[in-house]
Amino acid sequence: MEQDSNQFSPPVRIVASGKRRRTVAARLRSGVLELLVPSWMPEAERQQWAETMRRRLARRMDRSRPSDQRLMERARTLNDRHFGGRLRWTSIGYAEMAHTWGSCTFTTGAIRVAKRAATLPDWVLDYLLVHELSHLEHSDHGPAFHEMENRYPLTERARGYLMALDSTGEAGLPVDSD
Ligand SMILES: [Zn+2]
Repeated sequence: MEQDSNQFSPPVRIVASGKRRRTVAARLRSGVLELLVPSWMPEAERQQWAETMRRRLARRMDRSRPSDQRLMERARTLNDRHFGGRLRWTSIGYAEMAHTWGSCTFTTGAIRVAKRAATLPDWVLDYLLVHELSHLEHSDHGPAFHEMENRYPLTERARGYLMALDSTGEAGLPVDSD
């Protein structure tokens, strides 16, 4: 269920202006793609620009918004695969986190994953999710917690991967702080 550039198709309003000489501008306003064009511009060219700007905006939106929906789907799959689907959480999503990769608020069941984790390989992201999911049952990092975390077969490898991220200055960044 990836959101790709072709699924983003807002209504387009073309605003022609006599003052505008040759540049074209676009903005998204209340879900409508407004295209500002010079009034001399032929209809076919306006339509071409509308499509170009739609794609450009779609790409920008994809980049700037790690998908919470996708995160939730991965968590659901991992829950089914490793925990018999028994875990329940109240919310799960990306958040700005400067000092950790994730967090799970034991009392409320809210899981957060650092936005920068959206660029990690899927199998590392899955490890982060398994780690936070395991905190739904164990607030500490004790043996029972590790038993849960280790049901994900790539846990050790993912820990190594995160530790090796020294080129980005994130080596040793804890998964979470509890
Ligand atoms: Zn933890």
